[in-house]
Amino acid sequence: MKASPQSSDGNQRMNLVVMKFGGTSVEDTAAIGRTAAIVAGRVAAGKSPVVVVSAMAKVTDQLLRAAAAASQGDRAGALAISSRLRARHRDTTAELVKDAAACAELTNWIDKKFDSLDEVLRGLAAILELTPRISDLIVSFGERLSSRMVAAAFGERGIDAAHVDAREVIITDSQYQKALPQDDIIEKRAAEKLRPLAAQGKVPVLGGFIASNEAGITTTLGRGGSDFTGALIGGALSAEAIEIWTDVDGIMTSDPRVCPDALRVKIISFEEAAELAYFGAKVLHPATILPAVKKNIPVLVLNSRNAACEGTRITSLAPHCKSPFKSIAVKKKLSIIDVVASRMLMTHGYLRQIFEVFDKHRCPVDMVSTSEVSVSLTVDSNQQLPAITADLSALADVKLEGKKALVCMVGEDIRGQNGMAAQVFSAIKHINVRMISQGASEINMSFMIEEDDADEAVRSLHAAFFKDPDPAIFDVEAR
Ligand code: ASP
Ligand code: MG
Repeated sequence: MKASPQSSDGNQRMNLVVMKFGGTSVEDTAAIGRTAAIVAGRVAAGKSPVVVVSAMAKVTDQLLRAAAAASQGDRAGALAISSRLRARHRDTTAELVKDAAACAELTNWIDKKFDSLDEVLRGLAAILELTPRISDLIVSFGERLSSRMVAAAFGERGIDAAHVDAREVIITDSQYQKALPQDDIIEKRAAEKLRPLAAQGKVPVLGGFIASNEAGITTTLGRGGSDFTGALIGGALSAEAIEIWTDVDGIMTSDPRVCPDALRVKIISFEEAAELAYFGAKVLHPATILPAVKKNIPVLVLNSRNAACEGTRITSLAPHCKSPFKSIAVKKKLSIIDVVASRMLMTHGYLRQIFEVFDKHRCPVDMVSTSEVSVSLTVDSNQQLPAITADLSALADVKLEGKKALVCMVGEDIRGQNGMAAQVFSAIKHINVRMISQGASEINMSFMIEEDDADEAVRSLHAAFFKDPDPAIFDVEAR
């Protein structure tokens, strides 16, 4: 990528790049070593990285399990989880930080964090009520710990790193567990706390996902929120790029575990990537897209286990592609809810009443299709379906069917192409299709099928639409 010499808001040739590393990129000593080498490479290339890290792999899940155990009165179980996590963080620190004094200091700090975590868990086991606010406090330890350790490891490896508590930069409202960032304040804080460090040649290291409200109380951005942190910081600093380092080569034409012929997508538009993220491609958090789109900052998805691979570049405008689709995503574990008004035809206000039920339960709906008397909606099977069904039953007859999958085909070049649906459905004529939707965005075509048919459907579609992939868009050399 070409460096921008001087951006209008004073980047002063700093070439700021936000580098976000996910849980697997900081999961142990070896991973943190690879991450440090990647960051050192960027510094050597004249970039000013700002590094955002997730918690070590699986730590967020374990902290949530500890919280759940404590809130159910299983004090010993909760403390046992915490003690295993303490050992993992201490052991990794001992391997990472060779300087004895620095290691002792960091280990001591880690112990203090775990002492206070244990105190919260004991309190929770007495109160037996896990509020969203306490949950955020408990999970925040994951990123607070990992970011400190990564900053120390960078220091040992010759990177002039400066740990910054993300909670002083990412300011949100008070919707715990999925708090809303306050862009203006974040921009101000990033200018105050991060830009001067970068200007001195330092590499700020922050935890992703964690934030705080204006009163300084810890909040989080929602699961997978570290990408969001990366994009928020990139947006606030008008970085020249946001790099999302994961453990895959980038966005693929489909899941390589299901479809061995899957290819890396070299370049994709923001809009396409957002569709894919929403429909289950696990590479990227959908909200990542927004702060970057607003400022026209390219996002790169890269592999920390294969740093030489150029990954996927997400840009505001994708170049024209010879084939209609860029990627096929699948979202499993979905349910279809059929709402059938038995007594009367759909009257004015009926749909509103139905949607109010989903709104009340804060349950996102993926797809909707309506007929004269019925409405079918698809939702994640993990939602509180019994409660939702009960509320809907007050309005109409309700039928629930689980074990469904949504197949979503994304591509800018399906806009205005005739006969696309015919081509798609003839590729899977052997499979029963339950609901169909062509997105208003005109860049996705999705349909619901049985979960058991999903893998077969993806392979058939991939064979039909990626026979002759455009080398400008797809990594055909890998084939
Ligand atoms: N550690 C958080 C999670 O697992 C945030 C992230 O990794 O993006 O959800
Ligand atoms: Mg993630």
